[in-house]
Amino acid sequence: MSGTSTDTRETLRVVNPTTGELITTVPAASADDVARAAEQAHRVFESGVWSGRPPRERAAVLLRLADLMERDAEFLAGLDSEDAGKPITECRTGDVPGAIESIRWFAEAADKVFGRVAPTGHDSLGLVSREPVGVAAAILPWNYPLAMAAWKVGPALVAGNCLLLKPAEATPRSTLHLAALATEAGLPDGVLTVLPGLGPVTGTALARDPLVRALSFTGSTATGRRVLAAAAETNFKRVSLEMGGKSPQVLMADALAYGDDLIDNMIEAAFLTMGQNCTAGSRVLVHHSIAEEVLHRFTTAAKGLVIGDPADPRTQVGPLITTTALDRVSAAVEAARSAGAHIHTGGLPPGLPEHGAYYPPTVISRVPAGSDVLTKELFGPVVTVETFESEDEAVRRANATEYGLAASVWTRDLDTAVRLARAIEAGVVSVNSYSEGDITTPFGGWKQSGFGGVEKSMDAFAQWTREKTIWIHTR
Ligand code: NAD
Repeated sequence: MSGTSTDTRETLRVVNPTTGELITTVPAASADDVARAAEQAHRVFESGVWSGRPPRERAAVLLRLADLMERDAEFLAGLDSEDAGKPITECRTGDVPGAIESIRWFAEAADKVFGRVAPTGHDSLGLVSREPVGVAAAILPWNYPLAMAAWKVGPALVAGNCLLLKPAEATPRSTLHLAALATEAGLPDGVLTVLPGLGPVTGTALARDPLVRALSFTGSTATGRRVLAAAAETNFKRVSLEMGGKSPQVLMADALAYGDDLIDNMIEAAFLTMGQNCTAGSRVLVHHSIAEEVLHRFTTAAKGLVIGDPADPRTQVGPLITTTALDRVSAAVEAARSAGAHIHTGGLPPGLPEHGAYYPPTVISRVPAGSDVLTKELFGPVVTVETFESEDEAVRRANATEYGLAASVWTRDLDTAVRLARAIEAGVVSVNSYSEGDITTPFGGWKQSGFGGVEKSMDAFAQWTREKTIWIHTR
């Protein structure tokens, strides 16, 4: 901080994690900027220029936004790839099309959210309607900048709210471009306000602002806890938190029947976005009878991943977001190694690109219980492999974490699959695949991975709306 006034504006330095070069600087919103933006959003909401429009008209604006995102898809993919170090192919085939689909899907849902009529006697009529909250806010992580923005912008705006959107420090550019496209699509001024800034300043101000009635946060569990506390200390705004994970991939004795498909899915689960993914399948739990072969094939595939410049379409592994992240991942792996764990591939061998916080895909087994690599969300390309003897043990190990975001289960036996899917404590359990479902299915964590609401699907509207009962007494 360069001063104590809340109106002191910081500057965000957007740095390319691959080259270390400064891409641009962006003014960071101060606490006063947040308060002013909230007041403006409140005025715009009250004016009805957006909240009062028929849902069909709001849908038309968002459908135009989706078309404009499609027009600028390559540009948007480039922004997230450069800012976050994500392989460009991931951004082109995953993040950007997914974001466009989200905006379009929620736009199409605009006039399909109905209220209810209560089963009353003839002397009354009980109407239950879904209303926008008014001023809403969203705080985003850096690992899926555009995709996470779209999950929130879609339902928040469709519901009629005015939204204050704070991107992560490292990745503000795609969110800023999204806002420019929204204006081009015809969204009235003040309905969507992007507030780049520092978490402890801009994020805290949003969490504390009394005009903000709902706040949807995606980020780490530690920050989520702070956001919830800030809301509790101020106006009890509705808070929903999507947080970290330590997700298991459970391979039963017959899992190898899926051959390369199994290994390809395991690799994607483990190393997508260099493992900097909330649903990363960072804990492989494998039946002892197939452990040796799985380890061999999985390690061979991990070794074969193409490490390089994220701008190159062939690259599968780019740099981690910062050298701090690299140090954290590296320290945890070294601690495991010192404690007797076996590193099958990775650690830090030679041959990595000269610049950038590169860490190779790493596979570890024989990790002592309680080790950080087993229990903490490392947010890096590191996978532990544990074996089990029985289904009960598989479930026990799968659930031996404070997180509960996602899980995969691999078996050809339907009964086993259903039993495991029921027993594993996670918001999404995918059978014979690595998947978070699609836009029609809810996404939200259990245990310390989530709180208060879900993303995607019609259920997502719940976090951006509030129910009102209108009770009419008839005579
Ligand atoms: P982070 O918690 O460091 O930051 C997330 C956001 O919170 C950023 O915008 C940051 O500026 C802001 N912030 C920081 N301190 C704040 C404070 N005191 N008050 C309010 N806001 C504050 O997380 P990150 O490193 O950007 O993202 C990685 C984390 O996000 C991982 O834990 C990952 O699992 C999680 N994540 C979860 C999901 C999900 O859907 N469950 C999706 C993507 C990422």
